[in-house]
Amino acid sequence: MYIKCWGSRGSISVSGREYAEFGGDTTCLEVIAKTGEVIIIDAGTGIRRLGKSLVRRKASEYFMLLTHTHWDHILGISFFAPLLYKENRLVIQDRKFDGLSTRQVFENVMRPPFFPIKLTDFDADLYFDPSLNQKFTIGSIEVEAIPTSHSEDSMGYKFTEEGKSFVFLTDNELGYDHPQSQGAEAYVNFARGADILFHDAEYTQEEYKDKIGWGHSSVSDVLDLAVKAGVGQLGLIHLNQDRTDAQMKEMVRQSCRILENRARKTGAPPISCFGVPSDLELSL
Ligand SMILES: [Zn+2]
Ligand SMILES: [Zn+2]
Repeated sequence: MYIKCWGSRGSISVSGREYAEFGGDTTCLEVIAKTGEVIIIDAGTGIRRLGKSLVRRKASEYFMLLTHTHWDHILGISFFAPLLYKENRLVIQDRKFDGLSTRQVFENVMRPPFFPIKLTDFDADLYFDPSLNQKFTIGSIEVEAIPTSHSEDSMGYKFTEEGKSFVFLTDNELGYDHPQSQGAEAYVNFARGADILFHDAEYTQEEYKDKIGWGHSSVSDVLDLAVKAGVGQLGLIHLNQDRTDAQMKEMVRQSCRILENRARKTGAPPISCFGVPSDLELSL
């Protein structure tokens, strides 16, 4: 599968020279199956650039999954250019978010006084598909979901194709059990042996002391998870809105050092660790 990050910032989009390297757009990933299906995960502001790319590539059918519906994960939907064209078909995961269906969530984003255009004003064919839940297949990719320790109905996903897997756990607080948390052990099991894990690393260990219960992880808890799960590569994502490029690089440098030390002690292969920038492309 092919993976591209179109936005890795958490909580709110940012701009400015100090964020240029990791980017300012909020969560949006694109996964393409070897059989060609395009899967979009989250509709943060990064989906604006993805939409333009899909129009340029003349791709006309896409699947959309949501981790949850906090603003940073849905606010780009109104600027998703493929919605303007009637030849495009968007198959959207249909599920409940705190009692609202996915359609109702998008209708609420696109209505006065918040936005001048309604969801029904767009020409693309939208199909809300209830089968895209828990465990399902899109083309050659098997998808599995797990509730995250964050908010009601927040989900993480595992994408598996030809024995290779990519796990995406954003907005997941490993150090605190929110009501639907599955417990730290369950997240280890979910990520076990993943070739690539992207995990919420919103806080440094120091910052986290004042943010317990805010729904995001400290990077040290993420490193623990990656080691216990024995993942191949670890991408730190849901970048804090105040984290500059220089600070992000320092977080990655320290994380790599910790992982290398651990690998030296256990004899296990070292996990390669990086901060996930906008525009990162990976293949499995
Ligand atoms: Zn978020
Ligand atoms: Zn959230």
